[in-house]
Amino acid sequence: MRKLSEGLDPEQEAAFEEAAYVVIKARQQAAERLERAGIHIDLDPSPFAAHCSARLPAPPPNRFCGCPAYRGDGGPCINRFTDFDAPDFGEGPSQRPCRHPPSAHIIAP
Ligand SMILES: [Zn+2]
Ligand SMILES: [Zn+2]
Repeated sequence: MRKLSEGLDPEQEAAFEEAAYVVIKARQQAAERLERAGIHIDLDPSPFAAHCSARLPAPPPNRFCGCPAYRGDGGPCINRFTDFDAPDFGEGPSQRPCRHPPSAHIIAP
């Protein structure tokens, strides 16, 4: 898949990440609004969630980050989450930081 930000100069790239962050915040607000109203959307992925779709380096190939929600202030995501899809080294599911930019959290894999 082509990166959304491909071919942008550094200034445009910064604008792109800022725009992605605006989308993420709007989705979080939307999700909170639904929660307050007691509405549960059980679509997976939810249109209001900001899952991370960054591709991880192999092995194994074609694995996506899967971070469930962006956390941070516009920079790399600081969320840590339990990675149930990680290769099993016999230690159970591992905790993994996301560290991907906002733009990785606005498009479905
Ligand atoms: Zn993340
Ligand atoms: Zn990620």
